[in-house]
Amino acid sequence: MRRGFKAWCERTSQEYRRSVGVRPTDPLDPRQLAKLLGVLVTTPEAIPGLSREAVSQLTSIDRESWSAVTIAHGGKRLVVLNSGQSRARQTNSLAHELAHIVLNHTTDEAVLSDEGFLFRGSYDAAQEEEADWLAGCLLVPRDGLLAVGRRSADHRYLAKRFGVSRDMIAWRLRMTGVSRQLRRETRMRVAASVSEV
Ligand SMILES: [Zn+2]
Repeated sequence: MRRGFKAWCERTSQEYRRSVGVRPTDPLDPRQLAKLLGVLVTTPEAIPGLSREAVSQLTSIDRESWSAVTIAHGGKRLVVLNSGQSRARQTNSLAHELAHIVLNHTTDEAVLSDEGFLFRGSYDAAQEEEADWLAGCLLVPRDGLLAVGRRSADHRYLAKRFGVSRDMIAWRLRMTGVSRQLRRETRMRVAASVSEV
């Protein structure tokens, strides 16, 4: 990742959270952010003209094969979320798609194969990594995670608190160094109470 990118992401998260009136220690519903960015959000069942079979294919039979799609047309953007996936996954997927938009990433041309399969034109690993990182900062900012983590570092509690999956919490705790910092603080507290005795 580019130099300074991670610090920029934390600052960007703070700014967007402030704009929608959400504190660093509170959950951010990415739909609020979508509204702020002028991005429309929908699900397959809300798309006019899509057959019941197609909806069932997308949200039930094949629900593990995709998470979200962003469609750009005439300066407008629409994110279609897979409503067949869990709430936490949808939150993550929407934050990821919005992160691509905030980062001004290029969109790929979709490719339709002869068999009727829809593919991405290309896959840019660097862009995906950046979008994942920014999405994590938006949903679980480092300062908020540290403040809430001081009260309880229980993953289940933190996941509920930020409205994300436990995997996301574990990833953020590890990657931001918050988990190390919390352990150090606990050790110092223990040492201080021992010396008092
Ligand atoms: Zn992506």
